[in-house]
Amino acid sequence: MTRLSILITAGPTREAIDPVRFISNRSTGAMGKAIAKAARKKGHRVILIGPGENLSALNMRKKVLKNFTAADAVVMAAAVADYRPQRQSARKIKKSAAKMVLKLIKNPDILSEIGHKKENRVIVGFALETENLYKNAAEKLKKKNLDFIVANQLTKKHNVFGRNKTSVLIIDKAGSRKLLKNVSKDKVAEEIIKKIEEIRSKN
Ligand code: C5P
Repeated sequence: MTRLSILITAGPTREAIDPVRFISNRSTGAMGKAIAKAARKKGHRVILIGPGENLSALNMRKKVLKNFTAADAVVMAAAVADYRPQRQSARKIKKSAAKMVLKLIKNPDILSEIGHKKENRVIVGFALETENLYKNAAEKLKKKNLDFIVANQLTKKHNVFGRNKTSVLIIDKAGSRKLLKNVSKDKVAEEIIKKIEEIRSKN
């Protein structure tokens, strides 16, 4: 088996409002860390971006682009914030008015950007959906030019954040689907690495 360089992002991004506050999300980074572990176990070289770094989406993008050229595969497991505050106040915002409006602007889509210059790299995305799991994930797979996408359904009964067991639907660009039901994140991670190795051996 060839040793691959696998770039993995994990966890939430933090979008600063001022020096004290930020916008973030409930991602814990567990899935990305499990993928890094599975990759190392198979002897691959891992570059893990995100856990413990508190990166903004813009800084995560810079790090990903810097490491992208040398990567054979990229797995974007990070929950990148879609929006960031338009203005980042240099000083702590004081409370005064009864209402305040925070203006947000869109962050760049890192996955889409690298998907469109993938060449023979294997590019893997994640999708977290509350409805129409297959349709939404399949659309993202196509739009972002991915090799495959790992889709998670978020329901009240099924909260994936910080839990070890999960259920995912893996959809690839050839249209094949694989459902992994109520399995550990380690198991999902192993399947992801196996699939990357398979695709890479054909590239
Ligand atoms: O479009 P959506 O945010 O649902 O797509 C999720 C996938 O895209 C994840 O793999 C995530 O890491 C990636 N993403 C990104 N940059 C963004 C938003 C999402 O790389 N700004």
